[in-house]
Amino acid sequence: MKELIVEMETYAKEKNVPIIEKDSIAFIMKYIKANNIKNILEIGSAIGYSAILMASSNQETKVTTIERDEERYMECLKNVKKSGLEKKINVVFQDALDVNLSDVSYDLIFIDAAKGQYTKFFEKFKYFLAPNGVIITDNLKFHGYVGKSEKIESKNLRSLVEKIESYITFLKENEEFETEFYDLGDGISVSKRKNESQ
Ligand code: SAM
Repeated sequence: MKELIVEMETYAKEKNVPIIEKDSIAFIMKYIKANNIKNILEIGSAIGYSAILMASSNQETKVTTIERDEERYMECLKNVKKSGLEKKINVVFQDALDVNLSDVSYDLIFIDAAKGQYTKFFEKFKYFLAPNGVIITDNLKFHGYVGKSEKIESKNLRSLVEKIESYITFLKENEEFETEFYDLGDGISVSKRKNESQ
């Protein structure tokens, strides 16, 4: 398993595939163990790095992960097979905003896909959160750009960063969810429904 993880890190670096930072995945794995998380939904599989690590955190943990890019989806399937965790990881090849879920609920929903669509993902998938479940979001610092959008010259980058800033405001002002922000990795948040005890 360790060999596969290193292989995936090297692949991601060489092919410029964004994968989660070590501090952030360590935090999530610890959370999975401490809270005995069983069912996870991940938005944005890339090559399966975080899905494999999350699924291996706890014996009973299962992960459904969604990826819309075909090449990454194929690579993810290959890696899941190599990891021997096929029974614990279900990889879905679709745009997450088009996925139809019914009669399912997740203890943890991990949002790690298109940064400009974070609010849409949150609003769509919150209905599939189990009681006491959490929504974790990655890349809230976006490589240090968040909070400095007015100084960014590139229009595309500025617009993306502004969307992450507005997602942060959305979380902070949310009446339904309480969010804790953690300054580790590229910035991570954990959102829980208000009036639920953990
Ligand atoms: N979670 C992965 C990891 O840490 O190993 C990294 C995911 S990468 C940051 C984001 C991925 O989300 C990309 O591979 C991208 O193709 C995918 N993605 C972006 N928007 C998506 C969408 N609307 N539906 C499904 N996948 C999406």
